[in-house]
Amino acid sequence: MNPRQDFPFFSKRPELVFLDSAASTQRAKPVLDAMQDFEESHYSNVHRGSSTLSEEATESYEQSREIVATFIGAQPEQLVFTRGTTEGLNFVAQARTYASVLYTELEHNSNVLPWKMRARQTFLMKPTDLTITPDELNEALQEHKPKLVTFTHTSNVTGITNDVKELCKVASDNNVQSVIDFAQGAASSPIDIKKVPCTFLAFSSHKMYGPTGIGALYGADLEAEKPFQFGGGMVDAISENNITFSPSPQKHEAGTPPIVQAVGFAAATTYVKEHQRYIKDNVKGKLAKALTEALHSVPGVSLVAENTFIGSFTTSHHSHDVAYLLGAHNIVARSGHHCAQLLAKRINPTGTVRASLGIYNTQEDIQQLKEALEQTMKKLA
Ligand code: PLP
Repeated sequence: MNPRQDFPFFSKRPELVFLDSAASTQRAKPVLDAMQDFEESHYSNVHRGSSTLSEEATESYEQSREIVATFIGAQPEQLVFTRGTTEGLNFVAQARTYASVLYTELEHNSNVLPWKMRARQTFLMKPTDLTITPDELNEALQEHKPKLVTFTHTSNVTGITNDVKELCKVASDNNVQSVIDFAQGAASSPIDIKKVPCTFLAFSSHKMYGPTGIGALYGADLEAEKPFQFGGGMVDAISENNITFSPSPQKHEAGTPPIVQAVGFAAATTYVKEHQRYIKDNVKGKLAKALTEALHSVPGVSLVAENTFIGSFTTSHHSHDVAYLLGAHNIVARSGHHCAQLLAKRINPTGTVRASLGIYNTQEDIQQLKEALEQTMKKLA
């Protein structure tokens, strides 16, 4: 069965060619069903009351943690729920003050700003190509000697995936902690944290067919980290002069957490896991290739990277004009710097148009993009 049928959005909006999954994906029916069932039959606050209903909700919430942790090969106590990748990265940057952090030119602003604001010193690594090589990373680590290095798993501008396993090994060989921004990898690249020696990894549910408002942060040793928010649910005992926190992960989840979203997030990881083969063969395989061919075939279009599930391209026109005119053909694509201003500037000062694929896209979608782009380019000529 084509996974497109798992997405009610497309029967409600059949006119749209949705090519903006890198920004946020549509939600899968099993995700919506899991959340609706929980809302209707099991909802209560968690880790609070001693009622059976509260225990039931707590069990579902903690089971969701276990499912999401298992998705990346981690233990439940190594995973905290966050609002998304951005909050996960901010957590790491705020939990301690890092003396020095190395980041790269390929990063989303969410993996630049927290370090710029919190670390004492930051160093920018500019890879020669649009990927980070272990040799170049090693050189940068030897030169700057940072305490921590942070890099994207997959670029949200190019769709190029870095060899994070090798990069983390280089970091640990240099005695440097590592952070992986897994926002764009979670829906398309399975990861087993036991084989990737990173210190932290952050991702978002809404980029992998799950709900917004929730993400996860993996930490190799979260118990060792200080909480970065304070409130109910994270404290064990409090007196006028003494406070003891709950053990991790509770001590990192102050306040009422996104309970229903956690259930949806877990269902999304299950959905992605069940479709990993399809995603590899189609989204990252046949469709990515077809997208490259389609964009190459349109005169005046230059592709930033080939055969990836993110087709970013430039033309001699402003990216916003091109995306706007594509919109008139019902193509939902993105334009601009995609919150990765350092990389966007390097590629093209006015940014790129980005057509990104999800599990529900088809060859027909790509054909429609090609036809719309041909007409757009003629109109702008
Ligand atoms: N990192 C990358 C590579 C992204 O693409 C994004 C979102 O586009 C983020 C981080 C931030 O994710 P979120 O907005 O879900 O926190």
